[in-house]
Amino acid sequence: MVFGWPRKRRRSRLVAAPFPAAWESFLDRRCSLWGTLPEAERSRLRDDLRILMAEVSWEPCGGLELTEEMRVLVAAQACLLTLGHRVDDLLAVKTILLYPSGYRAPDETMDEAGIVTEEMDDREGEAWDVGTVVLSWEDVQNDARRLDGRNLVLHEFAHQIDLLHRLEFRDPPARGGAAFRRWNAIMHREFAALSSRRRDRVLDAYGAEDEAEFFAVATESFFERPSDLLRVHPELYEALSAYYRQDPAGRR
Ligand SMILES: [Zn+2]
Repeated sequence: MVFGWPRKRRRSRLVAAPFPAAWESFLDRRCSLWGTLPEAERSRLRDDLRILMAEVSWEPCGGLELTEEMRVLVAAQACLLTLGHRVDDLLAVKTILLYPSGYRAPDETMDEAGIVTEEMDDREGEAWDVGTVVLSWEDVQNDARRLDGRNLVLHEFAHQIDLLHRLEFRDPPARGGAAFRRWNAIMHREFAALSSRRRDRVLDAYGAEDEAEFFAVATESFFERPSDLLRVHPELYEALSAYYRQDPAGRR
């Protein structure tokens, strides 16, 4: 308790301050998902995003000049994922690296003979092992503008939540019970279906890559195109709604 108290006090001081009007109007203008939220959820998000902004370490890379607005836009979208849970579920993320635009990073591949080659690969974001998220600011901004089912921040933070739950052997709905078995069965079935089709009206084909990518891609559609996902993949929508404890289709 002794250790928890200073953080608790710091947090209450943080959220007791009025939410900056400039941030509010920035989110109104630049974050389409923000516009879909009713006031009760916005109010919760205003608190959570300030906690995330304060408690992770932000590292500008590639000459980026990190601004407050950049941190607000990333944090607002990331915190949307844990609106049905607690913002602490995101705080396994310790560091957010932000690049001005897409960046190049070495990618190691191993061939059948076991020979490893390193090639430079173009990327717009990635989730390393639990703890670090890498984002391109250009893509963060573009994706925040449109509700088209592509959202880099949701994608990368969904990976983090997924990694954390796997590590701790807990998934909402709780691992092991009947609800979890049903959840798992739906996710496997929908992944297998996308893998065999490779095309879908709602889900990006990249979700066929593997089950982790499927979860991240399905998360993007769940928040950005909830009505379409509900219509085309009702079971997947229901599974994600149980996982995130949110009903974004009901907000529209
Ligand atoms: Zn991914």
